[in-house]
Amino acid sequence: MPEVTAVNTAVIGGGAAGLWAGCLLRDRNAGFIVLERGNECGRKLLLTGHGRCNITNNKSPSELRGCYHEAGNFVYPALCGFTPSDACEFISGKLGVPLKTEENDRVFPVSDKASDIRDAMVRFIGSDHIKTGFECVKIERSEDGFNITPKDGDTVSAKHVILACGGAGYPRTGSDGSGFELASSLGHTIAEPKAALAAINTCGDFCRELSGVSVDGVSLSLFCGGRKTASASGTVLFTHQGISGPAAMELSREIPSDPGSDTYIEADFVPSLTDKILADEISGKNSHKFVNLLAERMPRSLAAAIVCDDELYCRDVRSEMRKAVVKKIKMFRFDVTEAPSTATAYVTRGGVILKELNRSSYESKLVKGLHIIGENTDVDGISGGFNLAFAASSAFLAVKDILS
Ligand SMILES: Cc1cc2nc3c(=O)[nH]c(=O)nc-3n(C[C@H](O)[C@H](O)[C@H](O)COP(=O)(O)OP(=O)(O)OC[C@H]3O[C@@H](n4cnc5c(N)ncnc54)[C@H](O)[C@@H]3O)c2cc1C
Repeated sequence: MPEVTAVNTAVIGGGAAGLWAGCLLRDRNAGFIVLERGNECGRKLLLTGHGRCNITNNKSPSELRGCYHEAGNFVYPALCGFTPSDACEFISGKLGVPLKTEENDRVFPVSDKASDIRDAMVRFIGSDHIKTGFECVKIERSEDGFNITPKDGDTVSAKHVILACGGAGYPRTGSDGSGFELASSLGHTIAEPKAALAAINTCGDFCRELSGVSVDGVSLSLFCGGRKTASASGTVLFTHQGISGPAAMELSREIPSDPGSDTYIEADFVPSLTDKILADEISGKNSHKFVNLLAERMPRSLAAAIVCDDELYCRDVRSEMRKAVVKKIKMFRFDVTEAPSTATAYVTRGGVILKELNRSSYESKLVKGLHIIGENTDVDGISGGFNLAFAASSAFLAVKDILS
């Protein structure tokens, strides 16, 4: 006969949101257990910020509101309830991990090690409150709560459940969309999971030849069916298959599931450049190589790929050629070959639809005692620490509600 462990609160999923829930429950000396399918918690957390963990963003809650696309209003109470500065205070004060703020208000551990944050959270929660190797396959209502059944091992019964199984991105870290299935089995509607913050595959050899080159300050516009549907600006990184980097990744969530031949991204590599400015510069630098002139405004390898003639001097650049180059720089077209893959996306768009959740507690409106937080919900933020900020803030409201 399998044993049943009884707890007040079971947190299913020991990723960023589940670890935050665990820390906040531990801080209040509550009875709880974090149930994680992997052999360690926070595997995705270790990868964040290129291993440095951009744990939150120090903007005010009202500024943050604009960083979650359609979910901005929904997440606002959570961001006010547990603000980025509350999260920083907890991490540096209670977890003992000093933090620093970098460009664009992004917060990182001083050590630049994501493992320092993950390890401190796990330590704070305590091994008695974490059960790894627990892959939840079923959650059922019971008379006074829930029975949580793992693939192997003993069932856990809990009065409250916090579902924090993440999205469907980077499945090797444990989040493979099973949280959506668990929520759906309890009656929740799931908005179709799609990639958000993903690299984009495009046609042609241009990107492959420049792979590894990154360009700052690029303006990108997405066109679908002859209409501009989204834009983003920032750094673009060329890859073997297309483009990545913050600006491209931000656009990825807007690419339709079946992009047709009329889906393309237009890049303005130097928004400040005009044909007039370039004409003036060319006439003032007749004896310079054209590619070197352009390389003052963009990486040399990109300038060379655009000009296609390393030996061309400014004095030989005719107006038609100059106009063609300006067009290439300001309206470079990347044809999108396919929808970005959910599996390689940093964040998943989609998940438990928000109208089925209470935005001041993250409790399900359909199942009393069930709270759903983090990427398990239909919330995705832009790049810059906003997704981990939401993991923390949604965990806070769920814990507060359970302990109230
Ligand atoms: C490469 C990369 C870099 C990123 N960098 C940043 C960054 O710097 N800043 C930022 O804000 N965001 C970043 N993100 C996004 C951020 O990591 C996620 O938004 C965040 O981890 C979501 O937290 P979560 O707890 O909801 O999901 P996850 O962190 O994915 O955790 C879900 C957990 O649930 C477990 N689980 C799943 N199913 C089950 C089950 N059935 N039973 C038991 N356990 C289960 C999983 O094993 C996993 O541990 C990055 C993402 C990636 C992939």
